Amino acid sequence: MSPVEHYRQRERRLEGIPLSPGIAIGRPCFFATQRDVRHASSSLDVIDETTRLCASLQRIADQRATLADETAAVLGPEHAEIFHAQRLMLDDVYLQEQLVQTIEADGCSAAEAVWRVLERYRSQLAASDSAYLRERADDVGEIRQALIGDLDRARSCRHCHETDFCTIDHCHLGNDHILIGSEISASLPIETDRHTIGFVVDKAGPHCHAVILARALHRPVVGSIRDLPDAIPLNSQLLIDGDEGTVIVNPSSSTLQHYRTTRVQDNPKIESTEPVDGFRVMANISVSADIDRALAAGAEGVGLYRTEMEMLAAGRPLGEDEQTVRYTKVIKAMAARPVYIRLVDFGHDKHAEWTGLPRPAATASHDDEHTLLRYPDLLRTQARALARASVHGTVHVVYPMISSIEQFKALRGLFGDATADLATDGLRHGVLFELPAACLEAARFMQMIDFGCIGTNDLTHYLFGVDRASGDAVGDRRLYDDAVLWELIDQLAHAATSAGKTMMICGELAGDPKFTPRIMRSGISATSTNPANIAAVRRSATQHTR
Ligand code: PEP
Ligand code: MG
Repeated sequence: MSPVEHYRQRERRLEGIPLSPGIAIGRPCFFATQRDVRHASSSLDVIDETTRLCASLQRIADQRATLADETAAVLGPEHAEIFHAQRLMLDDVYLQEQLVQTIEADGCSAAEAVWRVLERYRSQLAASDSAYLRERADDVGEIRQALIGDLDRARSCRHCHETDFCTIDHCHLGNDHILIGSEISASLPIETDRHTIGFVVDKAGPHCHAVILARALHRPVVGSIRDLPDAIPLNSQLLIDGDEGTVIVNPSSSTLQHYRTTRVQDNPKIESTEPVDGFRVMANISVSADIDRALAAGAEGVGLYRTEMEMLAAGRPLGEDEQTVRYTKVIKAMAARPVYIRLVDFGHDKHAEWTGLPRPAATASHDDEHTLLRYPDLLRTQARALARASVHGTVHVVYPMISSIEQFKALRGLFGDATADLATDGLRHGVLFELPAACLEAARFMQMIDFGCIGTNDLTHYLFGVDRASGDAVGDRRLYDDAVLWELIDQLAHAATSAGKTMMICGELAGDPKFTPRIMRSGISATSTNPANIAAVRRSATQHTR
């Protein structure tokens, strides 16, 4: 092997940012973006160009409608919204007029008009103060590229070391590969075939639609890799780590071995197991699309639906109808099994610029005003959506970060006012015990709530004063053995049973099978964890009951 070849084949790490979790190992496949046509011609016919423009607008609008149908079928209707929105943009009469006027006034080609008009929109959005609007600039850029590609008859294509004639939806070689491109359009994760097992990109953020769709499809994405495609040699092998944001070019056999034995086991396939008598094991979910994994694991309910994640994933607050659709999907999928939906829990470790919530200092003390009391519209909209969804099955509404009875009463009052004109028989209200102050009042709380939940993540954090954001998972786990924590859990369980109510437990501790027998001994009869942990928790519960 020549020195140059040797140099090219050595293992090399490129550090980017993690956008979608998981590990993928495959060959690189390079995505070619469409040609840029920013040149005007003086000999263009205005009528021809306008006719071409109209035909193209129609074709791309139809294509977006097809993409929306395919996405809805694979991932659910909420993920198809981006393509509906792009379609609406194309149907906008004002935009169409501006395009036609640009062709007529400047005598430019249809593609040039598209470039000029949509680039103006895109750059206005990109310069906005709002993170949400800045991200919408990507949608405009995507529509612009699709139209220009169509007008130019340029096709999106891809190539690798062996072939250069594969289409986006078909790899001729049928090999697992990782798609490399400086940008990634929202349609790409949907259009690519099952051999595209991951993505490496330069310009993409955690909230861009392509990344959200890749996450929903469980395909890893690493972003902010500069100098693409040059940074990745054509004939290399790649390992991408979407949890860490690393791309390993030509991983050595020991690196591959390390990932196969450690990291790949971190993401086990979901194993379906049967329920254990007397101990209900439910699933934690973040977005309604996670319900498939919960069902695949045989979850006996959804014990924690972190609804703020839906909004973080969408990159904006969701309206009443949008929330109703998502909650209804989960309730129907669970078919009469319990569903615990938590009110949005922003303002702590989960911050979203668009909510307008001030970012708390890492050391901020917990003030006695609740986030949802400071932003009551967030609560009102969600309360109405929950009430509307509850006609399809009982909803356990979980109130997070409660520190006092007065705080719970104020939130419950707002909830009641917001839903006064709706049927609320299917709603139950309960508290997530995750702040020590509320735990001390558990017996009083149990008189006024329908159920309780224990959130061990924040509870450990606030009980022992450890910084959750520091990410010291090993340190946190050591605290799970602390006698004080278990004394508190026992007291909470006792307060619930004395009042004839249910207490369930969620948080990282609840997913560790080592603690399942201890949880059962405390009198807690239901737990909720990531679907990947359900089988192990049930095995542990079965052994305990023997
Ligand atoms: C918890 O704090 O234990 C919990 C369940 O909620 P989160 O991890 O979302 O804060
Ligand atoms: Mg919490």
